[in-house]
Amino acid sequence: MIDKIVIANRGEIALRVIRACREMGIKSVAVHSTADSDAMHVRMADESVCIGPPASAESYLSFPAIISACEITGAQAIHPGYGFLSENAKFVQIVEDHGLTFIGPSAKHIRMMGDKITAKDTMKKLGVPCVPGSAGGVPTLEVATRIGAEMGYPVIIKATAGGGGRGMKVADTEADMEQAFLTARAEGKATFGNDEVYIEKYLTTPRHIEIQVFGDGKGNAVHLGERDCSLQRRHQKVWEEAPGPIITQEERDRIGRTCADAMSKIDYIGAGTIEFLYEEGEFYFIEMNTRLQVEHPVTEAIFDVDLVREQIRIAIGFPLSFKQENLKINGHSIEVRINAEKIPSFAPCPGRITAYHAPGGLGVRVDSALYTGYTIPPHYDSLIGKLIVHGRDRKEAIARLDRALGELIIDGIDTTLPLFDSLLGSKDIQRGSYNIHWLEDWLEKEFA
Ligand code: ADP
Repeated sequence: MIDKIVIANRGEIALRVIRACREMGIKSVAVHSTADSDAMHVRMADESVCIGPPASAESYLSFPAIISACEITGAQAIHPGYGFLSENAKFVQIVEDHGLTFIGPSAKHIRMMGDKITAKDTMKKLGVPCVPGSAGGVPTLEVATRIGAEMGYPVIIKATAGGGGRGMKVADTEADMEQAFLTARAEGKATFGNDEVYIEKYLTTPRHIEIQVFGDGKGNAVHLGERDCSLQRRHQKVWEEAPGPIITQEERDRIGRTCADAMSKIDYIGAGTIEFLYEEGEFYFIEMNTRLQVEHPVTEAIFDVDLVREQIRIAIGFPLSFKQENLKINGHSIEVRINAEKIPSFAPCPGRITAYHAPGGLGVRVDSALYTGYTIPPHYDSLIGKLIVHGRDRKEAIARLDRALGELIIDGIDTTLPLFDSLLGSKDIQRGSYNIHWLEDWLEKEFA
């Protein structure tokens, strides 16, 4: 039985989980650092527990602090949100050892997909198409240079433990190899404590297309189509949409079925995202995220499902509440990420919100933990909100985004909002004609 859940996260995603809990009649417990005493998730949850000082390592990432919060409040389960402990297999193991339920996949699946070399190897065996690359880890610069020559440049060197766009370096020619190889390795070591790297062919004009999957851990799995997350800056997503502007129903069915079959074969439990690069009609697997994604609302909009509710139901032991044949796409959805950052440097810009007004109306959703008078602490990620719109088609979604941006007010700090106003003026954006490099090229021209 689960009637109380600790949410091991903060900000908009903590609110998102609280909302699902409330609709399900489940009590929620917010945990927070001393820097977050005034945060919205603390106010909105049924109970709250202060778990430590501002530094994430001593609060949101502290195993004992979060397990204690469950013990103090009598909660039976933990929802990790995204980031923080959401893909930490050790944590999942400890949660289970304490007789608690982790709302997410098993430690085994997190481990399998957390190491990118193992993930690729597993996916290949499951029949999922992968980016051509080295067979496993590349131990030395000599081996890297040989592989580069065989595969042909450009290539990308990736830390097997990498994430969040870190630990990846492109070598355009053999002359760049030494620097790229050593930097990717050093970044892997410094950021993730693992210096193993591997090499992939660097695709020059792909789109980032990811497939949402769900499994019940008993061999049943479905897919909920794709999201196009090609609009990125420094490998970080800025704007996401579903369905993908150029993906056909035939392509969606094909890659979706491949992904759902793969998940069914490994008895995957809960929500997952299988990320691909897509170029000239072909999909190439790059990695899998074993958690809820920031951009999950665009999928919720077009399929009219609550993915967090589904995660909780699966964790309780219910079967999947939807069948593949009942999952039909309705319209088009776009999400833009609102970061407390100054344009064009994208330097973080925390501070006090002097005025906040959220847009509303048909087809508009705002997931944000902001309120007037709130002070954004400098210790955490700069994502402060997401504006999600839904329309009958892409054209209507874009018109709605434009309208909603006009209503949204965030005063007192710099945000990435002006970026979206300018983007909407671009013909390429209106046509849905972009790839993973488009945004950086556009930013260079726009702010030259
Ligand atoms: P992370 O785990 O850090 O998010 P990913 O492997 O998901 O790393 O890659 C993030 C982004 O980096 C992709 O969306 C894409 O823009 C770029 N990228 C990754 N692999 C390649 C590749 N082989 N060719 C071209 N771009 C790539």
